[in-house]
Amino acid sequence: MPTLTLAPFDLQVDLGERAYPITIGQSLLDDAGLVARHIPGRRVAIVTNTTVAPLYLERLTSSLKATGKQVTPVILPDGEEEKNWENLMRIFDVLLAEKCDRKTTLVALGGGVIGDMTGFAAATYMRGVPFVQVPTTLLAQVDSSVGGKTGINHPLGKNMIGAFYQPQAVIADTLTLDTLPPQELSAGLAEVIKHGAIIDAEFFNWIETNIDKLMARDAGALAHAIKRSCEIKADVVRQDEREGGLRAILNFGHTFGHAIEAGLGFGTWLHGEAVGCGIVMAAELSRRLGYIDASAKARITALVQAAGLPTVAPDLGAERWIELMQVDKKNEGGQIKFILLKPLGTAVITTVPQPVLIDTIQSCVG
Ligand code: NAD
Ligand code: MG
Repeated sequence: MPTLTLAPFDLQVDLGERAYPITIGQSLLDDAGLVARHIPGRRVAIVTNTTVAPLYLERLTSSLKATGKQVTPVILPDGEEEKNWENLMRIFDVLLAEKCDRKTTLVALGGGVIGDMTGFAAATYMRGVPFVQVPTTLLAQVDSSVGGKTGINHPLGKNMIGAFYQPQAVIADTLTLDTLPPQELSAGLAEVIKHGAIIDAEFFNWIETNIDKLMARDAGALAHAIKRSCEIKADVVRQDEREGGLRAILNFGHTFGHAIEAGLGFGTWLHGEAVGCGIVMAAELSRRLGYIDASAKARITALVQAAGLPTVAPDLGAERWIELMQVDKKNEGGQIKFILLKPLGTAVITTVPQPVLIDTIQSCVG
């Protein structure tokens, strides 16, 4: 049976002189003109990793070469623990050894790890070179490739070194998701659910109705989820590029989620898994404060579960939980700031009474 090809979809991240397009569609890696259009000079360095390179590097390289570009590959080891200073230096080592000048465009081909690290390399190589995101995980297509946060981890904290640096373009080829491990698909869906919950109740309903299709990687359903997620994130970023206020709502589920990641040791749960469970916890806290009703809370838990994500939190002990949440970047003056739903489809940023928080944690742990 011939596969139906969906027409590519374009949207704009409206940031004045730093504005850029996001194109979402099938087989975009093979569309030589599309990729090359966003590359100002002749030289390109594609940064990728040992998992993604065998799958997609050759196709992207051929497309670029077909338009006369000179391509230098940089292939890094795979893993969150590789998002570090050593691998950032490896990128610079190759760029300098190959005499890549300041007109060289860096292309990030991979998930959020490659995107964040390549973006930071682009922000700092020769004080800034053009950069294009080619995200290949669902999480990167719906979240990390949009918005200009770039960086690496420090042994003492995740994403602690970085810069705001916007790409020239984001090119999301949805067919690359076919090779994604199921756990990684679920992790991306956590951020999709988050986008619906904080801003768009109608989109949340749509995700509920279509969760089976999304889990089955139905091309049309995935394309819609990616498009709507990018629209929501782009709109928030347009209003608050550097997280002075509003942008913090994108951290819904992340205050609890980060505590899970740090408490269990990074990498024990995927980020998206921790966020999925964190969404359930933030919903429970919202319910206890009377911001959403029990049926909304139940819908959120059911959706997170249907997306293949954990809904029962690890038992770290209430004190440790609170200690871990206090190190969150968005806190000020020791007060933990929570993103809560009031009601489902609208986010509020607030502090909460400690006893309610402790009850919430105790009711969510397994
Ligand atoms: P990841 O980059 O580690 O990718 C997950 C795994 O999938 C890796 O093993 C990767 O090699 C593999 N992979 C990638 N594409 C594939 C494909 N098409 N087929 C098969 N395997 C493939 O993880 P991620 O979830 O994409 O991103 C997580 C990172 O993103 C974290 O470091 C996080 O801090 C960051 N992040 C950044 C932002 C931001 O705004 N900059 C937002 C959210 C997350
Ligand atoms: Mg996240």
